[in-house]
Amino acid sequence: MSRIDLNVPFSEKDEAKLLGARWDARSKVWFVPDGTDPRLFQRWLPLEQDIGIRSDSYFLAQTVAMCWKCHELTSLFSFILPPGHETLEINEDSDDGDYWFRHSDPATVSYVTDLPPHVVTQLKAVAPYYRLDFSKTTGSSYWMNHCEQCGMKQGDFEMHCEPGGAFFPMDQHAADRIVLYSYRESFGCNGSASWGDHLSFRMRVA
Ligand SMILES: [Zn+2]
Repeated sequence: MSRIDLNVPFSEKDEAKLLGARWDARSKVWFVPDGTDPRLFQRWLPLEQDIGIRSDSYFLAQTVAMCWKCHELTSLFSFILPPGHETLEINEDSDDGDYWFRHSDPATVSYVTDLPPHVVTQLKAVAPYYRLDFSKTTGSSYWMNHCEQCGMKQGDFEMHCEPGGAFFPMDQHAADRIVLYSYRESFGCNGSASWGDHLSFRMRVA
């Protein structure tokens, strides 16, 4: 495994040192020494370079819906990002290159890939049926819900892209079924973000 370098602001260097980070004087960078759990330093962990969506914090949204296969009720999960999250905008026409655009509205994220390890750890604890799986529809793998009863894949299209889907509430009554778990740590992924009126409904924070 290659060395994990950290993004430690100068003002937080003492804290990083206290937790066990080491200083590389030649490269002028703090890093995680071998044998130390990187999760101790998760707020300074770098996000993957190819990540198209990022945020300082995130919500894991949970709701309940009927499995299309066995017709039993199952929990479904999704990420909701608060205002202030950013998406990487590709700037092909200019020499300025790509840039991060800051959004002032919340977003849902679907077809999620490339989650950082500390987010995966949270998911394993809270949402074991939401995991990376291959979709024949998209011809690719993404973080996908599975029925808690029969294990069948529950694809993102119906719950995210169809009005009235589990994460596309059309009225307050539907939004009331969604519960948000708040995580105050960095988030990053590739995926499809959507902003819209369906996110203006009140949702319960657990
Ligand atoms: Zn089922």
